[in-house]
Amino acid sequence: MLSGSSSQHRPLDLVRQRVVLFDGALGTMLMARGLSSGEAPEKWNVARPEVVKEIHRAYFTAGSDVVQTNTFGGNRFKLRDKQLEGDLVRINQTAVKLAKEVCPPGKFVAGDVGPSGKLMAPLGPYGVRDIEAVFAEQGQILVDAGVDLISIETMFSLEETMAALRGIRGVTNLPIFVSMTFDLKPKGFFTLMGETPKACIKTLEENGADVLGSNCQLGSREMVDLIKEMRNWTTIPLIAQPNAGSPVMKGGVTVYEQPPEEFAEDILRIVEAGADVIGGCCGTTPRFVQEARQRLLDRR
Ligand SMILES: [Zn+2]
Repeated sequence: MLSGSSSQHRPLDLVRQRVVLFDGALGTMLMARGLSSGEAPEKWNVARPEVVKEIHRAYFTAGSDVVQTNTFGGNRFKLRDKQLEGDLVRINQTAVKLAKEVCPPGKFVAGDVGPSGKLMAPLGPYGVRDIEAVFAEQGQILVDAGVDLISIETMFSLEETMAALRGIRGVTNLPIFVSMTFDLKPKGFFTLMGETPKACIKTLEENGADVLGSNCQLGSREMVDLIKEMRNWTTIPLIAQPNAGSPVMKGGVTVYEQPPEEFAEDILRIVEAGADVIGGCCGTTPRFVQEARQRLLDRR
C-alpha cells in the first residue's frame, strides 16, 4: 500500500541539511570473514547472521548515517542461480531485520538492490516486464520488512535501471537512491552499455529517482570528475561511493590498497564537486567511513 506520511522523507530531510554518510563495502568484508567467491553473500543473512550484523554495527559506529542491507543479489533471478530461490522472502526479510537491530535512532537502513543478473531481450531471454516484476518483488519484501529507503546500485544498463526504478516505485513512496557504475574511457565516462552520465541523470531524474549518482568501478580520484560532470546535469542530490582505489592482483586475489586517509581526502573533493551523499564501495571498510567522517567534521 502506498502512503505519504512525512516520516517517509526523513532520509531526504537529512540530505538537505548536511552531507550524509553511507556505509562502505559489505561483499569484500564478508570475504575477509570467510565467504567463498562462489557463495551468495545473501545466504549469510540466515547462515551467519551475527557476522552480517557485526559489519552493519561497525559501520554505524564508524559514523555511517545509512547502512545498506545485505541484499545486493537478493532478487529471484540471482537467488535461483544459487539454488536459494525458495528462501527469497526469508533472506531479504532477515537482512532488513539484522540492519534494523543495530540501527541507532536517527540513522537509517537502506534496502539494497543490485542488478537482476539477467540481460534483457533481445540480448537475453527476459522482457522488460519480467525484469521489472523481479525488482518489484524484491522491493516489496524490503519495504514490508521496514527499510527507510531503497538503494538501487551498481547498475550498468540504463534500461535495466529504469525497470528497477519503475518496478520499485510501483510498490512504494519511500525515497529511492539510484547509483550507476561508469567506466572511464578515452572519450569520457560510460556505462558498460555505453550510456553517458548525462543520459542516465536526465532519464532517471525525469522518472522519479530522489537521489542519483555512481558507485563501484572507479576509485576515489576518478569519482571527483564524474560527480563534477553529473552536477552539470541536475540539481537533485548526488551520491558517490567509489572503490578504495584501483584493485591489484596479489596471489590470484583482488586487493585494494588505497590508504583510508587518501580516500578521505578525495571524499572532500567529491563533496566540493557536488556530492550530497557519500560512501564507499569495493575494498572500503569502517575505517574509510571513519576517516571520511572526520575530514567532513574538520571542514566545518
Ligand atoms: Zn564495488
